[in-house]
Amino acid sequence: MQRALIYGLLTAAVSFLLGYFVEPWMGWVLFYLGLSLHLAMHYRNFSRLERWSRKPVLDASLEGDGEWDRVFRRLYRHEKELLEKIELRERDIARLIAAVHAMNDGVVLLDGLYQIQFCNKTAERQLGISSATDRGAAITNIVRQPEFVDYLARGDFSRSLVLRLERYFERVLSLSVITYADDNWLLQVRDITQTDRLDSMRRDFVANVSHELRTPLTVLSGFVETLLEIDVDRESRQHYLQLMGEQSKRMQSIVQDLLTLSSIESAPPPEDEVVDMASLVDKLRRDAEALSAGRHQIVLQIEGQGDLHGSESELVSALANLVSNAVRYTPSGGCITLIWKVSSQGAEFAVQDTGIGIEPQHIPRLTERFYRVDRGRSRDVGGTGLGLAIVKHSLNRHQATLDITSTPGKGSCFIVRFPSARVSDV
Ligand code: ADP
Repeated sequence: MQRALIYGLLTAAVSFLLGYFVEPWMGWVLFYLGLSLHLAMHYRNFSRLERWSRKPVLDASLEGDGEWDRVFRRLYRHEKELLEKIELRERDIARLIAAVHAMNDGVVLLDGLYQIQFCNKTAERQLGISSATDRGAAITNIVRQPEFVDYLARGDFSRSLVLRLERYFERVLSLSVITYADDNWLLQVRDITQTDRLDSMRRDFVANVSHELRTPLTVLSGFVETLLEIDVDRESRQHYLQLMGEQSKRMQSIVQDLLTLSSIESAPPPEDEVVDMASLVDKLRRDAEALSAGRHQIVLQIEGQGDLHGSESELVSALANLVSNAVRYTPSGGCITLIWKVSSQGAEFAVQDTGIGIEPQHIPRLTERFYRVDRGRSRDVGGTGLGLAIVKHSLNRHQATLDITSTPGKGSCFIVRFPSARVSDV
């Protein structure tokens, strides 16, 4: 500003002196010339600014004359700071979007008319939305379940909505709608399939336990009432007491199996003791003989040598369950073969029987708690329906698998396979 002022004053002074001392017209010519030059310089810089403002790029070569240069440099600095800020914001936004996409919950942003503005990848998968083509579409055109349409129409979002989507592999979703920034909505979608399944398993389990205990309890209290109210002879009394004893034993077995199951479930990984398998399988054979009481032929085959790393008590409980099932579900005169095989691929314990066998449709469900092919038969042979559930849990904890093959009327074969990492050479 100062330089422009000095230049203006200087031009005026020299023009005045020239006009006063030489010729007035010369003074005027010089004055107009100076003024024109001055204007031309401003015009040139203004054109540069005008050109730049049309496409304001970061250009360090943007230079001006005199005061203009300072203005240009300030503009350059300001533009640079602005671009840096924008870049920083863009990076923040990109990070935020990536985080929203990585969330386990689905997120859909809706406008006041419930039209899709944005959705993350999880929501795309859960609800079948395509963020590329469904932007701007009403969410109810995509999620058409009547209960969801009603939920949005009612507008009461104090509770979340549980939606069961059969077409998406029977998923169960919990949907919540939250308002944010005036008249914009955030739809949050949580996949609760697993929790829902666990919940129904828990309900079934409680119902099953109650049912299993109720039957013997009803029998017991019936006998107690009879004995209290009616004067029965000694023989009948003895008979009733014997039946009562059986029922309480039954309840005891159920409670014992439940305790075993829960202790296995909550226990830390099994200990890593070396279990002497030769003596363990021999003990299983003796137990089978004791349980059979001479009604079956019991055979033990051992192939190869090797022990197992694991918890002895859990392995005994699992394998003894298989053996006792074979004895209990094989009619008198049948044969039960126990096979312990060790090879370089791992080890196998098989229990083969010539018993009643199992229809194929029951096999996948046998390890479920309280699942029995024939409830009456299981009760008659003292079963609780928890044996194979205990077996499955104990084996899982030892990374072992259980294979069941069976032919109804001919017999069954239960094979436990241990990985080679669990086998120790003798
Ligand atoms: P349970 O206490 O009733 O024997 P388990 O869990 O041990 O319960 O077995 C579940 C069901 O599997 C049994 O009720 C029975 O129907 C069937 N099952 C198990 N082992 C055998 C077998 N060796 N032969 C035939 N059926 C069997």
